[in-house]
Amino acid sequence: MPGSLAVGVDVGGTKVAALLTDDRGTVLDRKVVHSPADDAEASVDTVIALARELADRHRGVAAVGVGAAGLVSREGVLRFAPNLAWREFPVRARVAAGVGLPVTVDNDANVAAWGEFRFGAGRGSTDLLLVTVGTGIGGGIVAGGSLFRGAHGFAAEIGHIIVDPAGPPCGCGNVGCWEQVASGRAIERLGRQAVAEHPESALGRTAGGDPSTIDGPAVTKAAQQGDPMSLRILERVGVRLGEGIAGLVNVLDPDVVVVGGGAAAAGDLLLEPARRAFVDAVEAADHRPAVPILAAALGNDAGAIGAADLARAEAGRVAG
Ligand SMILES: [Zn+2]
Repeated sequence: MPGSLAVGVDVGGTKVAALLTDDRGTVLDRKVVHSPADDAEASVDTVIALARELADRHRGVAAVGVGAAGLVSREGVLRFAPNLAWREFPVRARVAAGVGLPVTVDNDANVAAWGEFRFGAGRGSTDLLLVTVGTGIGGGIVAGGSLFRGAHGFAAEIGHIIVDPAGPPCGCGNVGCWEQVASGRAIERLGRQAVAEHPESALGRTAGGDPSTIDGPAVTKAAQQGDPMSLRILERVGVRLGEGIAGLVNVLDPDVVVVGGGAAAAGDLLLEPARRAFVDAVEAADHRPAVPILAAALGNDAGAIGAADLARAEAGRVAG
């Protein structure tokens, strides 16, 4: 019978974070190392080393789950990642051979959605949409109590829905993707434009008049201090966020929407405009139950906690 502990590993662009969790999602131990994401072999060696260290330190580790930003196939092959060196890289097979335990690999936002569904802001729901608003926008979908992966494992790449064909270019090669108008990058772009036009504003003064020093967190900070121009930027981006969520809710009909990621640090300054725009844009708001749009609860741990839980569940199914 497998143990009740599992290791979850979050592979990011600059660091690899591993957590040990129990079956209630409680974090019992953790280890984080900085790792260059530009070396595919070094990255997988780091994942194996961290997972082994936590598994050796504790008895009863049943499985290892890995979350990574990119297209992860159902077989655990990382096909493509914008910020990692892995290309067509068999992550699941390599980590399983290295740690000698069952391994599950999935997209970082998918595992974060599972973490928030099981132990975070979406606890008690059956159908959840996670929107991670960072530099870009990632997504994860839980449908009928199961993680929705699609035919190939690539589902929920919600940031690259084209919402404005006349909008800014996107790193994916298209123009006007949702993540270009409703993410931290949009906050940064609008902040720089505003400073260029109004260097005398409160935001402009924090930048010393140099628009290129402005980033998303600088706009959020100025908004939190009451700068009207920064508040208008968060309002505008929040509205685009809410409109996009309405479209996704029309498709998926979740009972909760959870918003996480770095830009979610703006809290209600971003989420309140999103909630208002959502109610305006969703089909027949008066004839459906309210769908709460909640801030994520597990912070940066959501992905690793979700990956561990998915891996434990999958190992249990195989063993059972
Ligand atoms: Zn795109």
